[in-house]
Amino acid sequence: MKSKRRKFWRDNRFRLLLTLELAVMLPAAALIYVNFSHLHSIMRGKKVEALIHRDFQYVLGVSEKRINQEIYAKTEEVRGKVNAASIGKPGDVEKELDEILYTRPWIAHLTLFDRDKGAITRSQPRCLNDPSVHEEHEAIAKGFPEWFNIEGKMLAEQIRKKPQQAIFSSGPAKRNGAESFMTTAVFIPQNASDDHLVLAAASFEPDYLKETFFPSMLHELITQKLSEDDDEPLAMMVFPTPPEGFMSDPKPLVVSPGWGSGKAEVTRNLDNVFRGLSLGIKFQGTTADAIGRRWAVQSFWILGVLSVLMIGGLILAYRSVNREMSLARLKSDFVSNVSHELRTPLALIRLYAETLELGRITTSEKKEEYYRIIRKESERLSALINNILDFSRIEAGRKEYDFRETDIAELVRNTLDTYRYQIEQQGFSLEENLAPGIPRVRVDREAIARALVNLVNNALKYSANEKFLGVKLYRQDDDLKLEVSDRGIGIPRREQGKIFEKFYRTGDPLVHNTKGSGLGLALVRHITDAHGGDVQVESTPGKGSKFTLSLPLSGPPQLANETA
Ligand code: ADP
Repeated sequence: MKSKRRKFWRDNRFRLLLTLELAVMLPAAALIYVNFSHLHSIMRGKKVEALIHRDFQYVLGVSEKRINQEIYAKTEEVRGKVNAASIGKPGDVEKELDEILYTRPWIAHLTLFDRDKGAITRSQPRCLNDPSVHEEHEAIAKGFPEWFNIEGKMLAEQIRKKPQQAIFSSGPAKRNGAESFMTTAVFIPQNASDDHLVLAAASFEPDYLKETFFPSMLHELITQKLSEDDDEPLAMMVFPTPPEGFMSDPKPLVVSPGWGSGKAEVTRNLDNVFRGLSLGIKFQGTTADAIGRRWAVQSFWILGVLSVLMIGGLILAYRSVNREMSLARLKSDFVSNVSHELRTPLALIRLYAETLELGRITTSEKKEEYYRIIRKESERLSALINNILDFSRIEAGRKEYDFRETDIAELVRNTLDTYRYQIEQQGFSLEENLAPGIPRVRVDREAIARALVNLVNNALKYSANEKFLGVKLYRQDDDLKLEVSDRGIGIPRREQGKIFEKFYRTGDPLVHNTKGSGLGLALVRHITDAHGGDVQVESTPGKGSKFTLSLPLSGPPQLANETA
């Protein structure tokens, strides 16, 4: 019967473990594994960096478009101002071109070319003092008409096909001895007739490009990108495109604020308007590599913590299910134990009462002994039933205590008196040591007596060879101590914490052969808790146990249920 039940529990436990492992542990472990390897592959393949670089490529593409648009707009502005008809009218044409240059300091040179009527090139007068500008002027004034004479027709055709109605020619320039860059828009003036080849060229002032145009463009592009998503702040630069295979870092032409030092993450060779220049982009103060690494470390941490939490949760779930299962087992043991405990005294009472009824007992001594047994057994019954009732009240939260000023020494003495005969009958030597002068304390008499009876009963039940029972009452500081000691089987250390749990019984064979409910000590602990005290056990297996109740002399805390 017993082994069948064991097998049932073992099977159930096995099933539970299997379910937990198959349904929860395995998927959880797989999930953790997949996530970690995923993360690892992202790290190994530098996918975060690649993603950032792709985004940078896109930003640079958009930036180039934006820069070109700005130049197109300026070109269109000049295109509307240059008068195709004025060429061939000496005096007028210089005046008109100078006027355009005067109001638009961002143009360095302006050339107007008419295949039939010749060409004229005007430059910003204030810049001509610079020998390199002067040289530039000479080169343009000579070079452009030559170029237009040869390729003018083809250029005009190309220009007409362009949506921006201009083509660009760009290259390095010098300003005040420093390297700079210039681009020239070649266009057909707005009022030029289709049947007559007229071309104009406006060169953008290198100083303007370097000091005004690019800085403001870079600023605009960076702030625009920043407001899109508030990532790390970006920095951009413009630099002359190095020749193919050029290894060392290029010298920047213009850098945005926050560029600091270091290389560009991604570069883009500009085409069309600024052929010969490149755009570079990077993060301010960090790199895509560092961001990728930071992301990976963060992800590893998050994943690690989540995994630990998941495993912790599983362990907790497993433990709580396990505990519930052992509680269920304890409960079922409890039912069978209690039934036995009820049956034994009832059987005895019935047997002795029947014997007395039959009138077979003649000696009054014998009769008295039988009466005593009946009384004793019924006391055992009531004690058991009281324990169970009390316990169910406690479980339902309905237990109320009746605290009254009490002489504890007297209460202990009276309680022991009731059991003295039983104690001695069982061959125990009782050592009673109640210190005199213990002040009165507010306690629930019945509850304290029940706690004592439970401890005394345990001492009687769990003593094998040496039958000794010690009860000691004394004061220690602000506490009242009530000690019940025996020299019985003792309790192993690892079980000492558990014996106060409901239904818990140790694995000792004597305990198994002795009937009990496993409720006694749980009740004792509840009672001492309600009095604001506690209960401790000291025990050595084979040597005996000592249970000590501590009750505060100041009485129970205000929170406890008071009916007195
Ligand atoms: P019960 O005695 O009905 O089993 P208790 O709650 O009173 O329940 O005690 C719980 C367990 O603690 C007992 O089953 C026993 O294993 C152990 N125990 C209690 N008191 C003693 C003692 N004095 N000596 C040895 N073991 C004890």
